[in-house]
Amino acid sequence: MTIIFRIQKNFKENSRFCLTHMRTQERIRQENWRQLVRLSVAVTVFILPVGIWFAQAAQKQTALLAGYAGYMILFLCITLFLYARRAQPPTFQKVQAGCYLFVALTMSFNIFVGVQPFPGRPATLFPLSYLLLEILFFLPHALLNLQMLLTEGAFLLAVWLIKDSTVWCYDMPASLTACVFGCMASFLIQDLRIREYRTQYGLQYVSEHDELTGLFNRRGFDVYIAEIYAQCMQRQSVCGILMLDIDFFKLYNDRYGHLAGDECLQRVSRALKAVAARNDAFLARFGGEEFLSVLPNTNDKAARAYAEELLHAVRHEDIQTVGGIVTVSIGLCTRIPQTENGWVKQVDCADHALYLAKDRGRNQISTWRADE
Ligand code: GH3
Ligand code: MG
Ligand code: MG
Repeated sequence: MTIIFRIQKNFKENSRFCLTHMRTQERIRQENWRQLVRLSVAVTVFILPVGIWFAQAAQKQTALLAGYAGYMILFLCITLFLYARRAQPPTFQKVQAGCYLFVALTMSFNIFVGVQPFPGRPATLFPLSYLLLEILFFLPHALLNLQMLLTEGAFLLAVWLIKDSTVWCYDMPASLTACVFGCMASFLIQDLRIREYRTQYGLQYVSEHDELTGLFNRRGFDVYIAEIYAQCMQRQSVCGILMLDIDFFKLYNDRYGHLAGDECLQRVSRALKAVAARNDAFLARFGGEEFLSVLPNTNDKAARAYAEELLHAVRHEDIQTVGGIVTVSIGLCTRIPQTENGWVKQVDCADHALYLAKDRGRNQISTWRADE
């Protein structure tokens, strides 16, 4: 029993992590979106022959045929809508809502064609769709099961009210078995997928972050700079790139040792990180005692103020070193992005600015406004 509780607790924790974490959420959004598009096509194609068969069997039951035509139009509209938006999946919440709606519609369609037209025949489609829909979508497990249990209740009620008592002995056990197996299978499959997401997230995190400071590393910088730059280019807003370097750090290492040097790097990183977070800026450790920060959607004045804030934050840490406190020099380059990989040149120009700051006596900011 305790093992089951532990599995359930782990599953809950992992799924909460996946559903709240941006990067895993993004994967769930894309996977569910793909699933939704594929399934909507499959269901629409599937209900065409069902319709022909239905029209023949239902003959003059106009209410049934009208109901069927209603479903047909609904699924067709959903499919066309999904196809029209294929290139741009909507937000995570909208994709999840779309999945719930799709499950609800498909299951009610199955009840509709499985119960009403042929009261004397078993509804084989219902348990099958039950199993399929439970395992294909990635949704909060509890909510999906609640939705499925309600559908099961509606199905049982419809069977009891409408169908012949001779087919109860098939429909009821078949749907209840599908319900139990569907819950179990969806739990196991979702658990596996969640674990896979978490492992991938862990690997990605390690490959993009620096162990000592916890900041993005050079690889992380390369991955995200292109994204940030593209956004600025689209908005035609100024992007500020700052290169920072700790002054006389070799001296600090020589005087206090490398372990103390590491500690100093951590304290400087923490101070810089707090300022970057306040300003919605991106910060990475470029290598050694050098950092890169990107301030998107800014202007020259605000970028300069941000650089000042970074400079003061390090001074404020008040880390004692030979002949004073630890300081940084900052090279700032601002530009409205014109080309997709213009950031490479801009980093180079921030580097130039940094050397100017070092030349002029360190513990200061040098700026460079570059227009392409
Ligand atoms: P400047 O003001 O011109 O930048 O002088 P500097 O001494 O800071 O520059 P230099 O490039 O000569 O030295 C950088 C030093 O940073 C050398 C290296 O030992 C140290 N360093 C680089 N990475 C680490 C690290 O991860 N931990 C520690 N403790 N030291 C590091
Ligand atoms: Mg240095
Ligand atoms: Mg250096």
